[in-house]
Amino acid sequence: KRKSQPSISDLVHGITSGNITALSRAITLVESTNPTHTRKAQGIINACLPHASNSIRIGITGVPGVGKSTFIEAFGTYLTSIGKKVAVLAVDPSSSLSKGSILGDKTRMEDLVKNKNAFIRPSASGNSLGGVARKTRETIILCEAAGFDTIIIETVGVGQSETAVHSMVDFFLLLKLAGAGDELQGIKRGIIEMADAIVINKADGDNLKAAKSAKLEFNRALHLYPEKDSGWSPKVFLCSALQKEGIEAVWRVIQDYLKTTTSNQYFEQNRNNQNTFWLLQTIEEHLKSNFYNAPKIKTKLQQQIDLVENGKTTPFAAAEYLLSL
Ligand code: GDP
Repeated sequence: KRKSQPSISDLVHGITSGNITALSRAITLVESTNPTHTRKAQGIINACLPHASNSIRIGITGVPGVGKSTFIEAFGTYLTSIGKKVAVLAVDPSSSLSKGSILGDKTRMEDLVKNKNAFIRPSASGNSLGGVARKTRETIILCEAAGFDTIIIETVGVGQSETAVHSMVDFFLLLKLAGAGDELQGIKRGIIEMADAIVINKADGDNLKAAKSAKLEFNRALHLYPEKDSGWSPKVFLCSALQKEGIEAVWRVIQDYLKTTTSNQYFEQNRNNQNTFWLLQTIEEHLKSNFYNAPKIKTKLQQQIDLVENGKTTPFAAAEYLLSL
């Protein structure tokens, strides 16, 4: 049985020579909760770090049904046609609950999945966003070492997952649908602030007129926001992922963004900030899970909760006591 397990250096060698089987196996180790696998995964990631290619990491978000899969299929196919190698990953902490991932589902990107210059990996499972996000970040490094130069990270437009994805990408794209003139209703302010581009999808057929007016409205709204640290002003586009229209324009704007942010050094600086953020985030997660999983805490926590609920102690005294254990 031992012999069938490839060593760290086998896997690293496989990944850096672009072997997809080695890449998939390493990602499985990253996603595993088994401590031996986790240690092995760390060794692989460290060895892969120096091999990470010049890449662009693109986050894509939008509500279910907006056309993320259709867009990624068209966009990814276009990118491979101009010589890019595309990896599609997903952050979807809910996928473990629904048994099987909703996002990054291979069957939803039929052409791309058959494309030898594309690699699609469904969301890691797990019940904490932090855990799923960390695994995705590590997977990015492995994909880059395997020669994928364009990393697309998909997430659904609910909850906190956009923030997590925003903190691991260079460029953040928000997919929207034209509504009945109330485009800005029901959209979280924070999301607009994160977006480097807003793409109004399904701008085709009867929808085209509404899409055009939505574009005007978003443009007006974007002017109200202060300039971003990146020096970049977000752009609004129309697109029909289904008819593969407006796809190239999205790639061109990403190229413009790269030009702006590499010349003003924001690109590097942002990646450094993201690394610091993930360092601190990982420490926090670790401390938290160490605390809650400590046997002493496991036995005393409920007891203290009961005492607090019965007014026998204060939340602060209970916390002090538990932390002192
Ligand atoms: P997701 O849930 O965001 O991944 O959305 P999907 O890509 O699965 O698309 C949801 C539905 O919208 C599907 O029936 C698609 O065929 C349709 N759709 C996606 N893009 C377009 C588009 O540009 N125009 C039109 N008319 N329909 C689209």
